[in-house]
Amino acid sequence: MCDNAIVSCKIPKEDKSMKIYFDDNTKELKAIVCNKCKKEIRVKNGMIMEGCFHGSVRFGYFSRKDGTEHSFDLCEECYDKLIEGFAIPVKEEETTELL
Ligand SMILES: [Zn+2]
Repeated sequence: MCDNAIVSCKIPKEDKSMKIYFDDNTKELKAIVCNKCKKEIRVKNGMIMEGCFHGSVRFGYFSRKDGTEHSFDLCEECYDKLIEGFAIPVKEEETTELL
């Protein structure tokens, strides 16, 4: 069980897993690598140019991973494959706030 799951495409300022790369000089977002297939997700001028999925979860006291935080990124294809296997489809909503 998890008590805090955040699912979004927003990129955290610092990523300890080092799957997100920033330019040393400009501190601009340079690349994101899909955890599943190692595909590089295109980034231009610090903006993500295609679909990506950033998942992060903090496992709390009642989990078997007490106090551990997990995070990962998936390209759109890997995300689609992931949700294809769901018994209950994802909740889908129109959003005007495009990233
Ligand atoms: Zn992928």
